[in-house]
Amino acid sequence: MRDRFWERFDLDELTSQEWEALCDGCGQCCLLKFQDEQSGDLAVLNVACELLDIGSCRCGDYANRFDKVPDCTQLSPQRVEEFRWLPRSCAYRRIAEGRKLAGWHPLIAGGPERMHRKGISVRSFAVSQREVPEEQLEDHIIAILPIDG
Ligand code: SF4
Ligand code: SF4
Repeated sequence: MRDRFWERFDLDELTSQEWEALCDGCGQCCLLKFQDEQSGDLAVLNVACELLDIGSCRCGDYANRFDKVPDCTQLSPQRVEEFRWLPRSCAYRRIAEGRKLAGWHPLIAGGPERMHRKGISVRSFAVSQREVPEEQLEDHIIAILPIDG
């Protein structure tokens, strides 16, 4: 990977290795969400996708994730307009909006521990979808995000 590539190149100029490394591994995008059909607002749950390993906040089967979880979202520079549903801390959203990576980002901090300690990742509060019956999901809403376009 090129030295401090996240400061020197646009998202669509990154190699696939750089693109993957840009993800901070917070797991926030792997939390389940409900969307209000009329307003478009998103209700975010503290329930993580069944494939997320909550301890590491990493996908349990990244290579085959689209086979196992068909509605898993593929992020790409071409879909940058959709990044507004990602958390403001998300590295892709930061770069897309012209902001810098935070000091806790693993690329800057040298690993994910600082991110976990600061509570950026879902490790401290998420429960797995495997442990929550579907009829109880609404009890797990932790935030409503306005999607303002
Ligand atoms: S929210 Fe962004 S930085 Fe965090 S895991 Fe998802 S894609 Fe990666
Ligand atoms: S399949 Fe993997 S990457 Fe996709 S939402 Fe689930 S845990 Fe996250």
